[in-house]
Amino acid sequence: MYDENNIFAKILRKEIPCNVVYEDDNVLFFYDIKPLSKIHILGIPKVKAVNFTEFISMSDSNNIKYFFNKIFDIIKDLDLDKTGYRLVTNNGRDANQEVAHFHIHILGGENLGGIR
Ligand code: AMP
Repeated sequence: MYDENNIFAKILRKEIPCNVVYEDDNVLFFYDIKPLSKIHILGIPKVKAVNFTEFISMSDSNNIKYFFNKIFDIIKDLDLDKTGYRLVTNNGRDANQEVAHFHIHILGGENLGGIR
C-alpha cells in the first residue's frame, strides 16, 4: 500500500526541496542527500509504486522503457558510460529499503569497489 507521506512523495509534491538533475512529466532525478559515491543520483518514476515489484506490475512496457531510457540519458550526460557505474534498487525488507517509493540509485564517479 503506497504511503502518500513517504519522503519522495513529498519531494514530488515540492513540499521538500531536492537537488534536481532532471525532471519531466513522468520522472524525477535528484542527488542523494547522503551520497555513497562521488556521483549518487536517485531516479524515480512519477507513479505510486512502492518498489520495483509494484512498478513492473502496474506499468506498461512503454512506461518501463521510458524510465530506463531516461536513466541511460543521465548516465550518458554525466559521461558515466565511459568510466562505469552501478544501478541499485532496494526492494523490501531484506534489502533494507528505506523510502517506500520505487527508486533506482545511480552510483559512479569513482571506483565503487565490490557490491555494497
Ligand atoms: P533506499 O534504502 O534504497 O530506500 O535508499 C533511500 C535513499 O534516499 C538513501 O540513499 C537516502 O540517503 C536517500 N534520501 C533520503 N531522504 C532524502 C532526501 N530528502 N533527498 C535526497 N535523498 C534522500
